[in-house]
Amino acid sequence: MPNTRKLLSITNLKKYFPIAKNSIFQKEQLYVRANEEISIDIHEGETFGLVGESGCGKSTLGRVLLQLYDQTAGSTLYYGRTLADVAPSYVEYTLKNATKMIERYQKAKAKADALSLECNQLGDGASFFQIQARNLALAETETAFFDVAKILGGFMTVPNVTEGATLLLNKYQADVKLTELRRKLLEVDAEIDYASSVIEECREEKKNGCSEKKQKKLDKRLMKFEKRRAKYESDKAGIESAITAATQAQKMANDAVESLRARYRGIPLFDEYEGYLDDGIDLARLKYSEMRFLRKDLQIIFQDPYSSLNPRMTVGQIIEEGLVTHNYFKHGSPKMKEYILDVMRQCGLQDYMLHRYPHQFSGGQRQRICIARALAVKPKFVVCDECVSALDVSIQSQIINLLEELKEKENLTYLFISHDLSVVRYISDRIGVMYLGNLVELGDAKTIFEDPRHPYTVALLSSIPTTDADNVNKERIILEGNIPSPIRPPEGCKFHTRCFMACDKCMRVPPPTVEVEPGHFVACHNIDRKLDENGKFLFDVATSKREARS
Ligand code: SF4
Repeated sequence: MPNTRKLLSITNLKKYFPIAKNSIFQKEQLYVRANEEISIDIHEGETFGLVGESGCGKSTLGRVLLQLYDQTAGSTLYYGRTLADVAPSYVEYTLKNATKMIERYQKAKAKADALSLECNQLGDGASFFQIQARNLALAETETAFFDVAKILGGFMTVPNVTEGATLLLNKYQADVKLTELRRKLLEVDAEIDYASSVIEECREEKKNGCSEKKQKKLDKRLMKFEKRRAKYESDKAGIESAITAATQAQKMANDAVESLRARYRGIPLFDEYEGYLDDGIDLARLKYSEMRFLRKDLQIIFQDPYSSLNPRMTVGQIIEEGLVTHNYFKHGSPKMKEYILDVMRQCGLQDYMLHRYPHQFSGGQRQRICIARALAVKPKFVVCDECVSALDVSIQSQIINLLEELKEKENLTYLFISHDLSVVRYISDRIGVMYLGNLVELGDAKTIFEDPRHPYTVALLSSIPTTDADNVNKERIILEGNIPSPIRPPEGCKFHTRCFMACDKCMRVPPPTVEVEPGHFVACHNIDRKLDENGKFLFDVATSKREARS
C-alpha cells in the first residue's frame, strides 16, 4: 500500500503484564512478555492480517493499539486526525519544556560519553558494573534524544532551541484556535438551520389556518425561534471575523517557522532530523478525555458475539449507546432512529429486529449487530479480533463479505486478527506473522503465501488443508515441542526450540529483522539458506534437520 496515507505507525511497541509475586521472598518481578519490539505502519484503506498460534500476542496487540491496554514501551502514532483536531495537552507541555528536555539529553549524553570512554580505555578489564552503567547511560541518552527529536525536529540543532520551540508552540496554538473556531462555526450554522426550519414550519401552519389558541402558541414559538436565530446570526458574524484574524495569525506563525527552517537548512544535522517533526498523535500520551474523543475513530469487533452484547439491551439501544456517548445525536432524537435503521440495513439486519434482544438472534446475526454497533460511530480503524472464529463456515463467508463491502463503502482500515490462514489470505492486503510476541515475518498477502521465508510461516502454511490435486500430498510440517513460556522466553531466536532449521547461532543471538525484498521483512538468521532454480526460497525439512544435527 505504498500510495496511501499512513493511518497508524507503531514503533518498537512492547506490552508486558506483571505477574503477582508468589511470596515476600521473591525478589524478581516477572512479566508475561505479550508483545516485543513490534514495528508496523498501517495505511488508510488497508486490511492488515495478523496470524499466529493462540497465545502469541495477536489480540493483545490489537487492544494495545486501541489503548485498551497501556503499552509498556514504544510509540503508537495515529494520523487519522490532526494534532489541532485533538489538541493534546502533551504537545504544549513538551514545547514549553523544550529547554529542560534538551538539558536532560545533553546531560545524559555527556555521562554516556564519559562512561563509554572509561570502558574503552579499560578494554577487557572493564567490570560488569561499569559495562552495565554504560549501557544504562546509553539507553537513557537514546530515550532523551527521541523525546527531543520527535517534538522539536530540526530545531534541536538550531543554536537557540528555545526560539524554535517557541515558534512551534505559537504555530500549534494558532492551528488549535482556528480549528476550534471552525468547529464553532459549524455548530452555529446547524443551530441557524434548525431555527429557520422551525420558523418555516410555524409560518406554514399559520398560513393553513388554525384555532386561536393554536395561533397564540405558534406566535410564541415563532418569536422564540426568531430571537434564537438572530442571536446565532450575530454570533456567526463574530466567529467569522475571529476566523479571519486567526487565519492571519496562523499564516504568520507558519511563516515564522518556515523562515527559521530556511535559516538553518543546509546544516547537515538539521537536515538529518528534519523528518522527526511528526504530526501524528501519540496515543499513549493522551489524557483520558482526549483518548475518549478518539474512541469513535478506533473501534473493535470482538470474537465472541454472545458475551460482547448486553443481554438486557435491545439492538436499537445497543447501537444508540455509542451514538449518544459520542454526541452524534441527542437521546430520543427521531433522526437517530432513522440512522440506526439505516446502519442495521447496511449490516444485513431487518427493521423489525430493532426492538429484539440479543438472545433472540443466531450467532451470525449477533456478529452483524456487533459490526453495526462498531460502524455506527463512523470509525476509521477497526480491529476485527477473531471476529469470525466462533461462527459456522457458511456464516463466516457472509460476515467476511459484509466486512469487505463496508470497507469499500466507508474507506475503512482493518486489523484482521485470526489464526485461520485461509480467511486471512482472502481478506488481507498485507500479513504479519507473530510468534511468542514477536513479528517474525511481514509482507503482502501474495508474497507470504507464495514465497514464505520464515520457517514458522512455512510450518503454518503447510497446515492449511487443501483440495488442490498438485498439493494434496504435500508434506505437513509438524512443529515439535510446546510453545515456550512468554514469561521466560528462550534466549536467541524465540523459535529455536521448535525450528527445523535451527543452528548454533539461533540459540545465542536474536535474529534481526531484514527486508529481503521491498516490503517483505523476515526475522531469521537463515533467510537465504536455500534457493531453488527460480530463485525461490526452498524448504526441505528433512535435509534441514539433518544439517542442523550435523
Ligand atoms: S533464526 Fe534460526 S531458529 Fe529462528 S527461525 Fe531462523 S532458523 Fe529457525
